Amino acid sequence: MIVLGVESSCDETGLALYDTERGLLSHALHSQVAMHEEYGGVVPELASRDHIRRALPLLEQALSSAGIAKTDIDAIAYTQGPGLAGALLVGSSVACSLALALDKPVLGVHHLEGHLLSPLLASDPPEFPFIALLVSGGHTQLMRVDGVGRYTLLGETLDDAAGEAFDKSAKLLGLGYPGGPAISRLAEFGDPTAYTLPRPMLHTKDFNFSFSGLKTAVLTVVKSQQTNICEQDKANIARGFVDAIVDVLTAKCVNALRHTGLKRLVIAGGVGANAQLRASLNAAAAKRKFRVYYPELEFCTDNGAMIAFAGALRLKAKPDAAQHDYSFNVRPRWPLDELEAA
Ligand code: ATP
Ligand code: MG
Ligand code: FE
Repeated sequence: MIVLGVESSCDETGLALYDTERGLLSHALHSQVAMHEEYGGVVPELASRDHIRRALPLLEQALSSAGIAKTDIDAIAYTQGPGLAGALLVGSSVACSLALALDKPVLGVHHLEGHLLSPLLASDPPEFPFIALLVSGGHTQLMRVDGVGRYTLLGETLDDAAGEAFDKSAKLLGLGYPGGPAISRLAEFGDPTAYTLPRPMLHTKDFNFSFSGLKTAVLTVVKSQQTNICEQDKANIARGFVDAIVDVLTAKCVNALRHTGLKRLVIAGGVGANAQLRASLNAAAAKRKFRVYYPELEFCTDNGAMIAFAGALRLKAKPDAAQHDYSFNVRPRWPLDELEAA
């Protein structure tokens, strides 16, 4: 069965083809980062308009690199939420009109389920159950995952998401948008002893996070230096920030593993691409005898492959999960725990 995946929840348009027999056939992606950069963040209306321009050319690209025709598609999975309403509407309408034209069934997919299952696309995927740390631009959640759609939330951020903290702190250092990768690169040149920033909620017994205070700490340091903040000092602050956030994320993952007795940890979402986080988790895994699994780097941030894949897993479990019902609604806010088990 070949599933087309359509992702358009934020500022990436992604189309991908996943075959339940042969695996991922192809994926095509356009990131709008350059377009939104001059505004310092995503402009929703511009995002929607750009999804309209990109969707069909990306579909052609995905089809031709897979070497199949539109009529070979068996079902279409699209991101129904959460995300920007206008952006979601573009992907949903593209998916549903295509399905109508081809007389194929459609299935709305939860964007975070896509992220969460993306590490299973890698070679040597983890088995259920596992602990998942979802660290994206809009979410920071620790979950126990017992199967597709069987998610128990252990804890989450009380304020900013991890990716948001990276982006906001990077902005304070004048690093542009999105600043996650830039602040991470800069931190490599920083002195780890120059600034020790707070590690919010590091020692609380729960699995929640809070990152807005860390961002404020970056602001306070930047302000105190403002007369002439040199490049080395920026790198030192970046290092202080990255070390603090990585320490907290690692400690909470270790606690969740200890609490549940599980030995598998899965990382998903854009911040999962972070090199310092991966190094810290790998070191903890070696020391504490658990295994950690990551998505391929290109599937950490938004993409169509994870949507095609999540749709395919749901269809495998329940063939009537996709319907010939082409009326659609998007769910800009959609808690993950409202999903049914597959
Ligand atoms: P959500 O999925 O919660 O709706 P999103 O789709 O915007 O949010 P993702 O695409 O998963 O989030 O991830 C984007 C985030 O990941 C951004 O905040 C970005 O700065 C961050 N990010 C990407 N690469 C890195 C990196 N190497 N280090 C740190 N952060 C990174
Ligand atoms: Mg994005
Ligand atoms: Fe995302």
